[in-house]
Amino acid sequence: SAAVEVNAVCVTVASISDAEWDDLLEEFEEKSYLNAHRWKPGQDPYSLYAFNQRESERIPSNRALRDTRHYRCTTLHYDPYLSSTTIVITFHNEARSTLLRTVRSVLNRTPVHLIYEIILVDDFSEDPNDCLLLTKLPKVKCLRNKHREGLIRSRVRGAEAAGAGILTFLDSHCEVNKDWLPPLLQRVKEDPTCVASPVIDIINMDTFAYVAASSDLRGGFDWSLHFKWEQLSAEKRAKRADPTEPIKTPIIAGGLFVIDRSWFNRLGKYDTAMDIWGGENFEISFRVWMCGGSLEIIPCSRVGHVFRKKHPYIFPEGNANTYIKNTRRTAEVWMDEFKLFYYSARPAARGKSYGDIHGRQELRKSLKCKSFKWYLDNKSGTHLEHLASRFCVDSEMALDGIESSKMLVISPCELSAHTQRWEMPFS
Ligand code: UDP
Ligand code: MN
Repeated sequence: SAAVEVNAVCVTVASISDAEWDDLLEEFEEKSYLNAHRWKPGQDPYSLYAFNQRESERIPSNRALRDTRHYRCTTLHYDPYLSSTTIVITFHNEARSTLLRTVRSVLNRTPVHLIYEIILVDDFSEDPNDCLLLTKLPKVKCLRNKHREGLIRSRVRGAEAAGAGILTFLDSHCEVNKDWLPPLLQRVKEDPTCVASPVIDIINMDTFAYVAASSDLRGGFDWSLHFKWEQLSAEKRAKRADPTEPIKTPIIAGGLFVIDRSWFNRLGKYDTAMDIWGGENFEISFRVWMCGGSLEIIPCSRVGHVFRKKHPYIFPEGNANTYIKNTRRTAEVWMDEFKLFYYSARPAARGKSYGDIHGRQELRKSLKCKSFKWYLDNKSGTHLEHLASRFCVDSEMALDGIESSKMLVISPCELSAHTQRWEMPFS
């Protein structure tokens, strides 16, 4: 049995070798794949993808990345018997250069035995070969939608086709960094109700430089259901003696996470009446917390993502209408009386149709989920932010939290600081 263990440890570190890659790439014909839709001199390099296509094409599909983790991460050991995962990547008209780099970074930086398969869900892109040609690479499968479905139904389709017990979702313009997967799988193995996200590093949309993101951030939102990153409070930072420890987050950014497949199914997957893009991260985040799970950011897992300023693709029903439909469904099903804050922050949502929500309300009942008030009190928090200055109302309380000088002051927002947490009671 000792021999088996040693063997397993050896397998853990193996990914595809350079020599193997040479053969694979010859077979795959990387050059002709990339050449088919190349940027042409004179074209606006931003017009198709809303990032610099030209720069993306100058960067090799297997470029080296700086290891952006805290140095202490490299001393951690992971369970050699982690089970493998299905990686689901949905895309609509992704640039071939970024799509290929996403897949290659996964194949290069993940122990082979941890990848059950990579399912690409082609959400009715113009050229079916963007996806199909990639199936020449190891582990890669391709599902193509007959109609544009949007990322929510596409992810569900990928999840339903998955063969592994663990699901990993990625965007189609990512680059995974060194040892990104074991820390996520380990966390989900320890606690299958935990949904684990990496720290999302920034791939600059103009230069494609790979930039480390802060690992002192967590996800937050405002009442219009607009996602934002928030600094951990000074208190929370001080309490974090170990920089490799997971960070609980009220909300996940949405595109990159690992979840146990049975847990995903039991919790009701996604709200498949949501279209195209947006809002699904609030829905799944509220649902996970309120129905007995948790959301964490794992600082020792790093994945780069190209953040851009606008969507390069068409929303058939219009960008604003779609965002309102998706977030309104979220507010109506999950936010209880607090949906009033959503409607006052987003008055345009009031008259808009959002379809039938009975199924999702039934789901919430049958899972016996907690209230939105419980979620705010325990997992998130309400603060009072001055919109023009972005400063917050703060109670000048001694740090031990007992002695209060009963003064209200204005200070920079530290959203999880106890002195800035306020309740809005309904009566
Ligand atoms: N996507 C999709 N169908 C759509 C819209 C988006 O499959 O109708 C994919 C998109 O290609 C990407 C992921 O969903 O892989 C997230 O979209 P995007 O990157 O535009 O969102 P962002 O990361 O900017 O929030
Ligand atoms: Mn994206």
